[in-house]
Amino acid sequence: MKAVCAFLGTSCLLCLLLASVIPAEAGSGRGLLDALWTPAELVGQEEDHARTRTSDAPPARMEPRVPLSPLPYEESGNVRRVIPPKGDKPVALTFDLCELAVRSSGYDDTIIAYLRARDIPATFFAGGKWLRSHRERGLQLMADPLFELGNHAWTHGNFGIMDMRSMREQILWTQAYYEDMREELLARARSRGLDAETLVAPALRLFRLPYGRCSPSALRLLHSLGLRVIQWDVSAENAGDNSLSGVARLVADRVRPGSILLFHANEVPKGSAALLANVVPILQKRGFRFVKVGDLLALGQAQRFQECFSERPGDNLRYDTMFGADGTGRRKP
Ligand SMILES: [Zn+2]
Repeated sequence: MKAVCAFLGTSCLLCLLLASVIPAEAGSGRGLLDALWTPAELVGQEEDHARTRTSDAPPARMEPRVPLSPLPYEESGNVRRVIPPKGDKPVALTFDLCELAVRSSGYDDTIIAYLRARDIPATFFAGGKWLRSHRERGLQLMADPLFELGNHAWTHGNFGIMDMRSMREQILWTQAYYEDMREELLARARSRGLDAETLVAPALRLFRLPYGRCSPSALRLLHSLGLRVIQWDVSAENAGDNSLSGVARLVADRVRPGSILLFHANEVPKGSAALLANVVPILQKRGFRFVKVGDLLALGQAQRFQECFSERPGDNLRYDTMFGADGTGRRKP
């Protein structure tokens, strides 16, 4: 019957009736997402959630059950861009979901809804504590095949100045918390008779450095823990009003085939959703196509650097004296 319905589509009344009573299949498209949440449950700004104080206590489980293998030597350093084959114009849209130790930071629903409505793949780098403060939103992002999640440290620690033990905690607590969320997601799917084992990545494999800051030992540590460090070659937002259309044109003019664009999907900075909506049509008109970072890496040679910066070397050192003693917003004990 399913095959007949696929052929007949919406012209078959019986098929329309069946589609309304049979739950979505988890094995295809947005099946898992649509099976676990109603459309109304996927939207909502949660602005009132932002800037409230939330616990920065460690997660119940602090070590991941499944450690990743160290990366091969040739993958050391951080990736700013990928060189795709001639004629191909893939770009990766990435969105950081940063959260400090001292407060919660919200979820910009407009951005996620925009991407879903246009079927645009994207990569979200989520802080571990952000995932805990916004657990349901995190589960929805994990369940959506359009998206990919990466690790953005537990409480946004500055990896240019943190000691080794603190950096390990920032990385591994987030890895462990993601595993815990994945177990809940698979259990919820099982309770609906769905097997989601192959639909949700078993571990986070990409890492975004908070403030884009690093040290040689930070890069070695991430490498040894099996995480690919993903920077960007185009920092999309500026400190002003990002909703102005002129900003979008300036951003689009810096995008090259294989570029990685940095955006945020929470309280910082202002106007990100409008900027995204202004940039996407320009890039599409210029022949670019959107891919997740993991897929971009498979398309060509990655441009790797040992220094970590935003636009040019040294331009993010100012963050070493901002956001508390170690970037997490906490003052020295
Ligand atoms: Zn961040």
